[in-house]
Amino acid sequence: LFVAFEGGEGSGKTTQSRLLAIWLRDQGYDVVQTREPGSTKVGMRLRAILLDAAERGLSARSEALLYAADRAEHVEKVIRPALYRGSLVVTDRYVDSSLAYQGAGRSLDPEDVSKINAWATSGLVPHLTVLIDTPPEVGLTRLGGAADRIESEPLEFHQRVRKEFRTLAAAAPERYLVVDGTLPPEVITRQIQDRVHELLPD
Ligand code: C5P
Ligand code: MG
Repeated sequence: LFVAFEGGEGSGKTTQSRLLAIWLRDQGYDVVQTREPGSTKVGMRLRAILLDAAERGLSARSEALLYAADRAEHVEKVIRPALYRGSLVVTDRYVDSSLAYQGAGRSLDPEDVSKINAWATSGLVPHLTVLIDTPPEVGLTRLGGAADRIESEPLEFHQRVRKEFRTLAAAAPERYLVVDGTLPPEVITRQIQDRVHELLPD
């Protein structure tokens, strides 16, 4: 079982994906909890480039390719081996983040972003994607001061990102759970558990 968490800045993906991994481990499952960008050796270096405020000059195409390269490493070195061993995999961000940030956010052709990612992942699609849908005004406020390269983009950028996440989820409701990110965290946790429960192997 492969579950991805998606959502904008400050949506609580990291917290909720950790809680899901703990809940699954408590039931005796072997769980690999991971995130993008930066969960491999090369990925850590790519993450540093991508998030460094000093890299502001990076072109949109280069950015999309570096995220895709990070993801290719992630799939080949971490995700596929874990699924092959029979572990459950929970990732904080996956392909939808590129469709939303590099596609809708940076205004690259969504078809192109989709194609490079299908290639980078050799077509690996999550069984379930949990979208924690949060208005950017709320998410960005939660983050407080520290802004990396993307977080300091204008509000309209984050609104395009949010809209794209919602569009992706609406196009394939059987593969998505959309939760309202403004609900209390324990309510969100419960909604996620209820949906994942239906998908668990015995
Ligand atoms: O998940 P986290 O907030 O740590 O992600 C790090 C940063 O990378 C975020 O600011 C996010 O907007 C950005 N990002 C991106 N494109 C992706 C994945 C993440 O711009 N495909
Ligand atoms: Mg962040």
